[in-house]
Amino acid sequence: MTHDHIELSLEQSLDHCIKCNICTAACPVSAVTDLFPGPKYVGPQGQRFRMPGQPSPDESVDYCSGCRVCNEVCPTGVRVMELNTRAKAAIVEQNGLPLRAWLLGYQYWFGKLACGPLAPLANFGASNPLLRTVVERTVKIGRKAPLPKFSTYSFRSWFKQRTKSQASKTAAVPDGSQSTAPGSRKQVVYFHGCSTNYYEPHVGQAAVEVLERNGFEVIVAKQGCCGLPLLSNGAFKQARSHHEYNVEQLLPYAQRGIPIIGTSTSCTLTIKEEASELLGMHETAVRMVAENTYDIFEFLRLLHDRGELNTDFKPVQRSMPYHAPCQLRAHNLGRPALDILELVPGLQLSESTAACCGLAGTYGYKAEKYQIAMDVGAGLFDFVRASGSDTAVCDSEICRWQIAHGSGLEVKHPIEILREAYG
Ligand code: SF4
Ligand code: SF4
Ligand code: SF4
Repeated sequence: MTHDHIELSLEQSLDHCIKCNICTAACPVSAVTDLFPGPKYVGPQGQRFRMPGQPSPDESVDYCSGCRVCNEVCPTGVRVMELNTRAKAAIVEQNGLPLRAWLLGYQYWFGKLACGPLAPLANFGASNPLLRTVVERTVKIGRKAPLPKFSTYSFRSWFKQRTKSQASKTAAVPDGSQSTAPGSRKQVVYFHGCSTNYYEPHVGQAAVEVLERNGFEVIVAKQGCCGLPLLSNGAFKQARSHHEYNVEQLLPYAQRGIPIIGTSTSCTLTIKEEASELLGMHETAVRMVAENTYDIFEFLRLLHDRGELNTDFKPVQRSMPYHAPCQLRAHNLGRPALDILELVPGLQLSESTAACCGLAGTYGYKAEKYQIAMDVGAGLFDFVRASGSDTAVCDSEICRWQIAHGSGLEVKHPIEILREAYG
């Protein structure tokens, strides 16, 4: 498949718009603000007036959060979200990358600098109302938006330490990578992403332990940010170099048929399809890495289908609300976490019907969009609060931070619940 073919097929999807307005009725952003005229208007309709090299006819496309609900409901398959993201990229090309988009797009640099011994200081600064007000006034990052807390240790440092302590059993893996539980014939590569590495190492720890319980040697390959925050802010050129780097690091494993597993639905969606679709990257190497990448519960469900999943679960007597993030729904995988967790005796998860948590990547961090994000997420916050549970479950870090912020509940990744079930 060539670059031109994909460009054409995205453009061609415009002609499939039958102007039914189903997307506009479903769009969670246009439901809560008049500032966004809706998917049909800024998507297929606006696109007809966007000429190469010409100024954008309507910059209200910036109010699209990228949640993909329009794609899910469109009866004729118009890829509105991708059209909108391309339109944002054209605006960036025209006007340059604003400072705020740069800060949000390269947020992993904050993780590199602040995760570790400096975390308490950085967390104090990030939660200081005065500092947050200054940041809001200068770079327009919302002072109340839910910034995650930096961890005092990174996932990679935990993993390295663990590998060292199992040194006698360590297997040889390609340069710069580490592995645990060697000696097993089965191997997987874990793509932890930035959030697990710098903010939520416990999610990666749970993933490693669950994979090992299933007899896998876990390899943590060299990797960088998947580039999604850059992509969603229209910084296509910068996102491309991130995707190229990851493909280069992951390709040797994909060539050996070693599955690449992620716990962040944002990362896995980006590697599986978003980056290649939006950036027109359809080389064999990119495709091979994409085809070998799995969401962790998608992978565990595959194991279960083959009769290879360790189902020696202890009862977990809990009832919790579950939210399927929009990136997971975009994978068209069903609900793999629910499929696996329903095998755990005593555990009950009730799924929310909310379309979006509102935060949508970096969208809700923007000062002028903070309240929109909160209004979009309101139904979800009500749902989790009404459950009576003190914990909610969600596969995406962004949604977890927003649900915790909007509802006050603790929010866990489903892999943490599964690890608990293994005892
Ligand atoms: S994009 Fe799809 S859902 Fe929206 S108006 Fe066109 S056909 Fe209808
Ligand atoms: S991606 Fe979400 S916010 Fe954007 S137009 Fe579609 S439904 Fe609306
Ligand atoms: S999507 Fe994944 S890799 Fe990309 S910024 Fe988020 S956590 Fe990092």
